Amino acid sequence: MHQAKAWAATSATSPLAATTIPRREPLATDVEIDILFCGVCHSDLHMVRNEWSDAMATTYPLVPGHEILGRVKSTGDAVTKFKTGDLVGVGCLVDSDGTCDACKAGFEQFCPNGVFTYGAPDKHLGGTTHGGYSASVVVDERFVLRVPDNLDPAAAAPLLCAGITTYSPLRHWKVGEGQKVGVIGLGGLGHMGVKFAKAFGAHVVVFTTSPHKKEDALRLGAHEVVVSTNAAEMEKHAGSFDFILDTVSADHDINAYLALLKIHGNLTLVGAPSKPLAVKAFALLMGRHSISGSNIGGIAETQEMLDFCGEHGITADVEVIPMERINEAYERLLASDVKYRFSIDMSTL
Ligand code: NAP
Ligand code: ZN
Repeated sequence: MHQAKAWAATSATSPLAATTIPRREPLATDVEIDILFCGVCHSDLHMVRNEWSDAMATTYPLVPGHEILGRVKSTGDAVTKFKTGDLVGVGCLVDSDGTCDACKAGFEQFCPNGVFTYGAPDKHLGGTTHGGYSASVVVDERFVLRVPDNLDPAAAAPLLCAGITTYSPLRHWKVGEGQKVGVIGLGGLGHMGVKFAKAFGAHVVVFTTSPHKKEDALRLGAHEVVVSTNAAEMEKHAGSFDFILDTVSADHDINAYLALLKIHGNLTLVGAPSKPLAVKAFALLMGRHSISGSNIGGIAETQEMLDFCGEHGITADVEVIPMERINEAYERLLASDVKYRFSIDMSTL
């Protein structure tokens, strides 16, 4: 075991601050990674502030960060997939049982014994797992992803969560040419959803509460932008969407969007507001609409997404920040003031 520099929250109300954390010495199948960049997901903020206490209460100290991008420093004797110097990523998962139906089907994210990158019981060192707001991490090679070398590391980091979380439902619902697809919320997830839906050939419409994001939405690949607070603009799109991806992090009225679905249209939630959303029965009944959810993606699909991004030159639009500006970045996330993902430069630790 050795100590690594990191930033942690010690309670739901305290700002993140510098600390040190234990990291295990690499076991036979482990990869030791020097972290270059870590993206800042709104889930980090929800967890730091214990906003999901109903589903998973936060244990402190908490070192967030599950958009980890780095280079392999060393490998255990039995590692076959990676060597020192490789550009690699780690997302939201660092372990799963590998034997349940979900794991066997490639859906490690739904494994009942899955282990999240941070805040989950750590079977190696005791205590909880620590995330990527740190200098290094040690992860079993099954949960380490290859990152194409042609991608900018700072901008590729967010693919490990924002990327796969939007790629996976768009693939699952077979979004593609000839379809009209909505993306609600132009933040970290939303802007990746726009890029993927465009790359898959769909007609993409962004719904935003921030009128000043209109030009950016078009630049990112949207064909149309709707300011969702404008009822007349919303009404123009009634009954016209095949699929809508909802990335909103806070309470909002989803009935307004269900009304925009075609017959048999689906709205998938990836955003995870802390309070339950109210659904009007008739918003579903009329048109046999459905609502579903989606959580990140499995390991094989995450690799598929990264390879797709390498081939198509897709990364996040990032604002690179030094570690010491993380608390300010959280305030900006809450103000919807993100363009469009913060990526922490770990050389500033
Ligand atoms: P983010 O960068 O903060 O973006 C969220 C966007 O939602 C904002 O930029 C804003 O877009 C919109 N928004 C915020 N407050 C709103 C409100 N009160 N009403 C309407 N729109 C509002 O967050 P993120 O990192 O993309 O994460 C989004 C959500 O997804 C979070 O809840 C996060 O925990 C969750 N998440 C889920 C998964 C999963 O696997 N399912 C993975 C990662 C994250 P506009 O300014 O355009 O309106
Ligand atoms: Zn995330």
